[in-house]
Amino acid sequence: MRQSSLLSSTLREIPSDAEAASHQYMLKAGFIRQLAAGIYSYLPLGLRVLRKVEKIIREEMDKSGAQELFMPVMQPAELWKESGRYAVYGPELIRLKDRHDREFALGPTHEEVITTLVKNEINSYRRLPVTLYQIQTKFRDERRPRFGLLRGREFLMKDAYSFDTSWEGLHQSYLAMFDAYTRIFDRCGLRYSAVEADPGAIGGEGGTHEFMALAQIGEDTIVSCTHCRYAANLEKARSIAAQAPRSSARNGMKEKVHTPDTRTIEQLTKLLKREPQEMIKTLIYMADDKPVAVLVRGDHEVNELKLKHALGAENVALADAKTTVEATGAPVGFAGPIGLEIPVLADLAVGEMQAAVTGANEADYHFAGVVPGKDFAIEQTADIRNAAEGEACPHCEEGTLRFDRGIEVGHIFKLGKKYSEALGARFTDHEGKDQHMIMGCYGIGVSRILSAIAEQRHDDRGLVWPLSIAPFHVHLVPVSIKDETQMRLAEELYDLLTRQDIEVLLDDRDERLGVKLNDSELIGIPVRVVVGKLAASGEVEYTEREHGDKQVVSKDSALSRIV
Ligand code: ATP
Ligand code: MG
Ligand code: MG
Ligand code: MG
Repeated sequence: MRQSSLLSSTLREIPSDAEAASHQYMLKAGFIRQLAAGIYSYLPLGLRVLRKVEKIIREEMDKSGAQELFMPVMQPAELWKESGRYAVYGPELIRLKDRHDREFALGPTHEEVITTLVKNEINSYRRLPVTLYQIQTKFRDERRPRFGLLRGREFLMKDAYSFDTSWEGLHQSYLAMFDAYTRIFDRCGLRYSAVEADPGAIGGEGGTHEFMALAQIGEDTIVSCTHCRYAANLEKARSIAAQAPRSSARNGMKEKVHTPDTRTIEQLTKLLKREPQEMIKTLIYMADDKPVAVLVRGDHEVNELKLKHALGAENVALADAKTTVEATGAPVGFAGPIGLEIPVLADLAVGEMQAAVTGANEADYHFAGVVPGKDFAIEQTADIRNAAEGEACPHCEEGTLRFDRGIEVGHIFKLGKKYSEALGARFTDHEGKDQHMIMGCYGIGVSRILSAIAEQRHDDRGLVWPLSIAPFHVHLVPVSIKDETQMRLAEELYDLLTRQDIEVLLDDRDERLGVKLNDSELIGIPVRVVVGKLAASGEVEYTEREHGDKQVVSKDSALSRIV
């Protein structure tokens, strides 16, 4: 590619609203241009990076056995009403009407569409499991779009969905995605950490992990152990359960409350009402060292069998959120042993909930022997709600906790039957019985990755792309395009390299060397070859963007370093 014809111009001034270094450099170096808040065009340089990230994702998804498809952006509102999300998704969902006044939404995610699709295509266990993915534009009317591609309102996502016949199957599908994600982020050259997370708005009954690119500008705090592999998203852990006042032990339930009072139940209830998505997920209350009560997320059903399995007991009854709200006035679901009738629950509610909520912080309150994220989701994260940096790790007790800021670049969930039940995605099992499919969903912020990498890899002169996703491999810069000897050598190198599939950007612009070098550092192509006065003796100046040491080498030596 000849730079004189490249649609890209480096800017001298950066827009004042660009706060993040990645945002400034991506604008300045001519990778992206803003059309409206959170809405961007990719110029050729930016698009080349984006396509390379997509290619890595496709290769690893395909290798994991997933199949690519492509679904519509426009989604009938009926589907969202069926799943129950039309009412709860809020203003982030962009809603519109067609000429016949029919309601639509612009897809912020595709659970409804894929579940409907698979429901119509698959009806036997013989055709399961299956994992499907797409790379597609998503729309979310974010309250605060910012940092360029980090938080857009129109952005590119890879979303995948798995359909299994059993929870064990889901676990295998989930692990396959976990592995694919580590390979994808490794290949993109990201520094990241996979952490435990809360399901958030998507709902779901199983485990969930976030992949966090480490960067100061990140909106989440990651807690990790210096010794074991424990890592969690602190904000999520804190938002899962607000603290409640000390409660007294009632009806033989042991009191294990050690955390200081900060919130009353009323405050808690208010919080839960305001932010239904951040509700308490799963907290186990212990009595006489046996689990007797479980608080569950109230915005969706809990798989009763799974719960029985987790508790290792048959005598478990589930009250859904509605029943519990009516009985106790609290908007959380409740599960307890049969025999604890709802009126008893109502009587117990406050003390119990306080104890359970507060107890979330105590290791003893969690059901022993259940691996968080693997079986029924027990909050491991809750353990570190009040953690401080440098404290002993609550898991291995050998290392200490460290805090880092992170950007969520990927998120994997075990959804369970939330969508298959809501939308009726069933299959016939090997005994001829009708069952709901067990689902997982897996997202990657494709466009966000560009900014995350730019955030991690830049210096005071510009971007520093890793070879795997750089817009070009080599930046070939003749000092003067009017010098025939220089141009002859530059053209020769250009030919030799491109013939070997090396992507070369040839700076054939009639500019001063200083301008060319500044632009080159800004754009951040991994290798730069300057062809100057020494061209006469067949020598060039070779520089790696990352390290910056200039070396005068022969043409052949430069070639052998690159190819
Ligand atoms: P966030 O917490 O940053 O709002 P999310 O949890 O709402 O993200 P998911 O629903 O998990 O996002 O979507 C899957 C992935 O899509 C995220 O892990 C993230 O990488 C990416 N993503 C989400 N929202 C945006 C956005 N507004 N702009 C760019 N990428 C996004
Ligand atoms: Mg979000
Ligand atoms: Mg998130
Ligand atoms: Mg997420």
